[in-house]
Amino acid sequence: MINKLLIANRGEIAVRIIRACAEMGIRSLEGGVRSVAIYTDADRCALHVKKADEAYSLGPDPVAGYLNAHRIVNLAVETGCTAIHPGYGFLSENPQLAEICAQRRIRFVGPSADVIRRMGDKTEARRSMIEAGVPVIPGSNGNLDNLEDALQQAQQIGYPVMLKATTGGGGRGIRRCDSADDLKRNYDRVISEVSKAFGNADVFLEKCIVNPVHIEVQILADSHGNVIHLFERDCSIQRRNQKLIEIAPSPQLSGEQRQMIGELAVKAAKAVNYENAGTVEFLMDAEGSFYFMEMNTRLQVEHTVSEEITGIDIVKEQIRIASGKTLGYRQEDVKRRGFAMQFRINAEDPKNGFLPSFGRITRYYSPGGPGIRTDSAIYAGYEIPPNFDSMCAKLTVWAGTWEELIQRAFRALKDTRMDGVKTTIPYYQEILKSSGFRSARFDTSYVETHPELIEYSSKPNRHDVAVALAAVVVAHAGL
Ligand code: ADP
Ligand code: ADP
Ligand code: MG
Repeated sequence: MINKLLIANRGEIAVRIIRACAEMGIRSLEGGVRSVAIYTDADRCALHVKKADEAYSLGPDPVAGYLNAHRIVNLAVETGCTAIHPGYGFLSENPQLAEICAQRRIRFVGPSADVIRRMGDKTEARRSMIEAGVPVIPGSNGNLDNLEDALQQAQQIGYPVMLKATTGGGGRGIRRCDSADDLKRNYDRVISEVSKAFGNADVFLEKCIVNPVHIEVQILADSHGNVIHLFERDCSIQRRNQKLIEIAPSPQLSGEQRQMIGELAVKAAKAVNYENAGTVEFLMDAEGSFYFMEMNTRLQVEHTVSEEITGIDIVKEQIRIASGKTLGYRQEDVKRRGFAMQFRINAEDPKNGFLPSFGRITRYYSPGGPGIRTDSAIYAGYEIPPNFDSMCAKLTVWAGTWEELIQRAFRALKDTRMDGVKTTIPYYQEILKSSGFRSARFDTSYVETHPELIEYSSKPNRHDVAVALAAVVVAHAGL
């Protein structure tokens, strides 16, 4: 039984997991789950520290504590925790944490170390999927040996190709190459970038699917061999291969395609004996064919949209699965209702190259009303530390129809106040106004090819110009 859980993470996802524990905490219902937070000095005033039942400091370095698997597992043992939830990012896809947990008899809320290792390596994952009969994006035969090998394999695949980091994540370590010259220019640069970012220099090639739709399927798999899916998410609204807006279900799929992709994802998960929550990511080309891209062996940032359309709490399910329980329902019991859309609200300035905008939140109002959900780690007076990701809140909106969803999302973004830092909220309002998006026709190139969005992010707004002018006037007046 899991009755005390350590959360090896911070920010909104730590708060999200604490909430699940709190709701499982009525003893007569679930046996109770006590939550334990960890934090570093930069996070002394963080919301997850305030909200957890217990919180322990991991020292002065802002980041190191969150990455120290041995120390975290020791702490779990010392404080009487029976499980660790890794959230996303940090150690969530590090097989070592899962392995140490297994050795110390702590339940890891996720798949086994073996599965994490196998699926975390993108060329290994491709191999497993080919074996299982799941269509994968055409690409190189494993990792590349050197530039000559890359050039030769790219020739066979056909340009444009994608040069990708084998252990990459978060949209980094991916470069499109349109010609042999392009590949020559990028090869060493990408290797040096990815070795710094991921501590691993392995790269491989994939055919570039031109302007694809990103479709991914949420999976739940228990330890008794039951695997179901919670339908798909459309994550095509991206900037630099990073997701900005995620939608469930995809408004771009037919019912037939929806059923097919769900079945493919279940097949993929079964093929690797997957356990716990996971996501199988696919790209869909212009002909409507699906190709496996990668599997994320953890809870994803955008899990909220699947929760909103199915009414299933994925985090609670993760904890139940990790404690050995059987899924309480079959595929045909999972019903889908309406549409949901999530906005990653980042503390970034969309009018200034999306530059991070860290600092104190002077005023905060999160929207409410029908169909609105916020998952955030901020409050008025909170100082966003510069050491972490710039995502500080997620706004998830649900509505019965696509049209109503767009209207409601616009209203909710307008209602949100987050003063003191620049945010991506006004940029999302521009996306909602753009006609291609409203008519549910978009691919991964959307925000980088639509003139109104390019123009928006290249023009300082009137308020900024006014403030800059006022500063000049003040400076000239010698005040
Ligand atoms: P999702 O797949 O859930 O949509 P992202 O790809 O945006 O989420 O990743 C979620 C978080 O995890 C981000 O903070 C990202 O920077 C981080 N992350 C993901 N993969 C890696 C990785 N391989 N190495 C380091 N950080 C990662
Ligand atoms: P990460 O691990 O960083 O999430 P992915 O392999 O999932 O990396 O790719 C992230 C994004 O990069 C995709 O959603 C897509 O927009 C783009 N991308 C990756 N591979 C390809 C490809 N072969 N063709 C076209 N776009 C791709
Ligand atoms: Mg991905």
